[in-house]
Amino acid sequence: MQNRLIDFASDTKSRPTDAMRAAMAAAEVGDEQAREDPTVNRLCAMAAELLGKDDAVFLPSGKMCNQVAYRVHCRPGDEIILDQWAHGVNSEAGGIAALSGANVRVLEGDHGVFDADQVRAAIRPHRPDVPRSRLVSVEQTTNRAGGAIWPLAVIEAVTGVARENGLAAHMDGARLLNAQAATGIAARDYAGPFDSVWIDLSKGLGCPVGGVLAGSARFIEEAWRFKHQFGGAMRQAGFLAAAGVYALENHVQRLADDHDNARQLAQGLAAIPGIEIDPEAFRTNIIFFDVSRTGLGADELNAHLIERGVRFQTLDAKQMRAVTHIDVGADDVSTALAAVREVIGAAATTPKRESRSR
Ligand SMILES: *Cc1c(COP(=O)(O)O)cnc(C)c1O
Repeated sequence: MQNRLIDFASDTKSRPTDAMRAAMAAAEVGDEQAREDPTVNRLCAMAAELLGKDDAVFLPSGKMCNQVAYRVHCRPGDEIILDQWAHGVNSEAGGIAALSGANVRVLEGDHGVFDADQVRAAIRPHRPDVPRSRLVSVEQTTNRAGGAIWPLAVIEAVTGVARENGLAAHMDGARLLNAQAATGIAARDYAGPFDSVWIDLSKGLGCPVGGVLAGSARFIEEAWRFKHQFGGAMRQAGFLAAAGVYALENHVQRLADDHDNARQLAQGLAAIPGIEIDPEAFRTNIIFFDVSRTGLGADELNAHLIERGVRFQTLDAKQMRAVTHIDVGADDVSTALAAVREVIGAAATTPKRESRSR
């Protein structure tokens, strides 16, 4: 029983299902970079349709989707406005600086969601001595900033300010389909005001790798240049794209199950003494909680859980994140909650621990 890890560390931990593997093995393939791979072409057409854009390009990772988009939009010395916790700022190895030569202007959003006034205040004047504000980039849903959904009205206001000032707008839609599942607002409606938008295949959709970046025909032609330049042009990539086609056909509706499981987990954690979480704050598959009053540090708690076959993600000494996905079901949520209760109960009765009250 214990050899299977119930892994809430990330939705990237999901592995392809048997049916997805079968679809991959059966894929019709060709030379992707000659645009002759029928399965890649099909995936791109499906993504363009889903996102309401002219065209799309398949890339080996979500990171490359962001970096290619930033490179298309920006010239060296340009500035990109993003939230302080944005993936592109914190988790892409400085790619914005290294690959696009662009500056970042980070805003302090509310769980990663900033507003039109903040953007207006961050846009630089037209002067030769300041960076040129070029792009506003938002993350739907926000990841490290708190698992929030950008409301459509805020998206419209923020992209409206961008447009009035001659800036382009980009959506890192790694989990855009989770926002769609949670609100019922179509992905293409969220994507509408953006010049570029991508979805990740290897998060909640459960594929092994990849992202699909969409935009105008002209944007995608430029994106192809940097797909080659960054080494993301592939050959028989249809085996990978087949997983994406399968996921778009079979794994979109089920994202709502991940949200139900996350809600169950959040409610269960809220009932455990010492764990601080507002279950109402989370509507998709990502939850955050504070363990500082349990008497255990986050790393220590996680180590004890891993011994019991359950893993969360540690963010710092106090904060943890849990993400639900196709490989963790409702039973796994119950198992995880029992493990947390056991570990924390054990911690509470171990005499040499520090007092649980602050
Ligand atoms: C995971 C993630 C990425 C990067 O995607 P990969 O497919 O892992 O490269 C980018 N942005 C956000 C918000 C993410 O969560």
